[in-house]
Amino acid sequence: MVFDLEMIQKVYSDFSNKLDVVRDTLKRPLTLTEKILFSHLSNKEGVKDYKRATDYVDFAPDRVAMQDATAQMALLQLMNSGRSRVAVPSTVHCDHLIQAYKNAETDLDTARVTNQEVYDFLKSVSNKYGIGFWKPGAGIIHQVVLENYAFPGGMMIGTDSHTPNAGGLGMIAIGVGGADAVDVMAGLPWELKMPKIIGVKLTGKLSGWTAPKDVILKLAGILTVKGGTNAIIEYFGEGTETLSATGKGTICNMGAEVGATTSIFPFDEKSAEYLEATGRKEVAQEARKIVNCLTPDVEVVKNPEKYYDRVIEINLSELEPYINGPFTPDAAYPISEFADAVRKNSYPEEMEVGLIGSCTNSSYEDLTRSVSIVEQAKRDNLKIKSQLIINPGSEQVRYTAERDGVLSAFEEVGAVIMANACGPCIGQWRRTEEKSERDNSIVTSFNRNFAKRNDGNPNTHAFVASPELVSALTIAGSLTFNPLTDTLITEDGKKIKLEEPTGYEMPPKGYDVKDAGYQAPAENSENAPITVSPTSKRLQLLKPFDAWDGKDYQDLPLLIKVEGKCTTDHISMAGPWLRFRGHLDYISDNMLIGAVNTFNKETNKVLDPETKSYSTVPALARKYKAQGLGSIVVAEENYGEGSSREHAAMEPRHLNVKVILVKSFARIHETNLKKQGMLALTFVDKNDYDKVREDDKISVLGLTEFTVGKNFTVVLKHKDGTTDSFEVAHTYNEQQIDWFKAGSALNTMR
Ligand code: SF4
Repeated sequence: MVFDLEMIQKVYSDFSNKLDVVRDTLKRPLTLTEKILFSHLSNKEGVKDYKRATDYVDFAPDRVAMQDATAQMALLQLMNSGRSRVAVPSTVHCDHLIQAYKNAETDLDTARVTNQEVYDFLKSVSNKYGIGFWKPGAGIIHQVVLENYAFPGGMMIGTDSHTPNAGGLGMIAIGVGGADAVDVMAGLPWELKMPKIIGVKLTGKLSGWTAPKDVILKLAGILTVKGGTNAIIEYFGEGTETLSATGKGTICNMGAEVGATTSIFPFDEKSAEYLEATGRKEVAQEARKIVNCLTPDVEVVKNPEKYYDRVIEINLSELEPYINGPFTPDAAYPISEFADAVRKNSYPEEMEVGLIGSCTNSSYEDLTRSVSIVEQAKRDNLKIKSQLIINPGSEQVRYTAERDGVLSAFEEVGAVIMANACGPCIGQWRRTEEKSERDNSIVTSFNRNFAKRNDGNPNTHAFVASPELVSALTIAGSLTFNPLTDTLITEDGKKIKLEEPTGYEMPPKGYDVKDAGYQAPAENSENAPITVSPTSKRLQLLKPFDAWDGKDYQDLPLLIKVEGKCTTDHISMAGPWLRFRGHLDYISDNMLIGAVNTFNKETNKVLDPETKSYSTVPALARKYKAQGLGSIVVAEENYGEGSSREHAAMEPRHLNVKVILVKSFARIHETNLKKQGMLALTFVDKNDYDKVREDDKISVLGLTEFTVGKNFTVVLKHKDGTTDSFEVAHTYNEQQIDWFKAGSALNTMR
């Protein structure tokens, strides 16, 4: 079955005409990235030569994907948008909430019980609003998207950082926060800073132990975790045509680790074959007809330095396998240098667990190449020294791999097959009963390896490598083993060298699946019920925020004056709070608890001027709210940087904070505040920050004449009877002023 074929046909039928307009205007050859971005400009935007990394541009993505953790708040907001169906095809994927412990079957049963109310909620909202629902066990969001929804030349957003995985099939796919997903599902344009474009030229062909993963592991070492910021990585060159579609997905997936907006490969015959093998022959046929739209212009490939902001070349024939880590994905070591690095840095040499899976490396190709290694251990009587855990990427891959004997071959050497879910990749791994924080090493085929990410132990040294290498190191049980050069001793004392991995890009007998785990939304579901228990600890229906009362804000107490860095993580901490993602009131108890109070240099300790004692930030905000008072937060530069998190804007709004006054905002967070009906202001003179005292009453005057570009006046009433006043600026446009007046962007849609 081809999902949303009509939509894809529409994108393809308009593509050439749209590019003609772009060529007429820009009068220069186009990169693939530009072709897709320009063909997805929102109706309001005209074609012009946007300044990369500077201009903000509105786009109209083709689809939205959400995982179960981030979908909760996104869907709660969608319910308040007044829409009865989503504006673009959208899907929800239940993959993050399943803990890996015993095995797939047992863990899935447990997850269905522990997360039942969340799953029921996501399923019922999906059904009502026309969203495709992939139940627990169906697979990891990005694998399911690659197998079913990604299409060359398309554009999508997803509420997960590794959404770029779909770039393996030539789609611009970008990870976003829930508020952005709500906008697109509600039919609003979606804003993005026009990205720079990094061209990565691939030449040659992989061989032996080297895998697609090694391309991105090497690139991570070159670009570091920040090198791709505000940029799209576009792969080009003849080497791209030698890589499988799923291998390209791996490379794009992990582009998130260098901070890239997304990554993309051109359409080629490998893409077409994958589309056909996954039941999308029609899409492959259509794509072949417009291949010029789905690849960069010839002049770009000939003179890449002229059209890309930076060009990096990687020769696949010379590429060595890499191992990256620990604690950061850009600590890149070619395998020939890794053993020395392990010894020099005193990393724990024993490798305790090998983990194969995650959205990065869980394709049929990954599993067959890995199993070709562990089968050698069985054949040659080699003892497998480490524990091996496998998470297939989707039910389709799992079912096919089971049919073809791949899973049983893993199990025969003692591997445990866990659910088709994120599991250990996101800390959903009940590793052992052991609670200690002892030093140890693991090697995974995942993408991220920050401290604590896999098992919560800050001293677990997690290294990232290709699945093939994970398998080899699992057999050896040692980080210092290099399968390209080293030998192993069999149980009967023979010295042997592992043979190079072999496998299948796609199953020779084709993919198969009995129940892929998909539930289509009902056609006429407007009256379908959505039940959320009023006593639920995980979900809470949202009430629309109150509209502005038409008056200036008078005498707001200062809630906190923040000193220094204040990211979205300081404003709305993650970790254990994530279980309250769907419950705005509960999660609001983490509001600004990570921010430093400038008056006492402590976190989550602010003065309650009434009692002259200290309180937590959320408790003081709740007290003011109960008294019918709003409050104000003052902070410094780049307030709200970090990952886009709508909770960081919704929590202050929920706790009746009226104004965030700062030296400067991170743009995305500023927009998120505006969407929630907050007043986001900046000091005209940054020195005025120093005038704000701990027990001030603060007024914002001029709201009744709220107009584009017109400053407000802030008056500080100090405890000693003196006052200060100064100008503050805002960046609201007409539409955003309407959001403020209505109480939120969603309120304007109702
Ligand atoms: S497998 Fe890991 S990286 Fe992929 S979506 Fe799940 S948690 Fe994120």
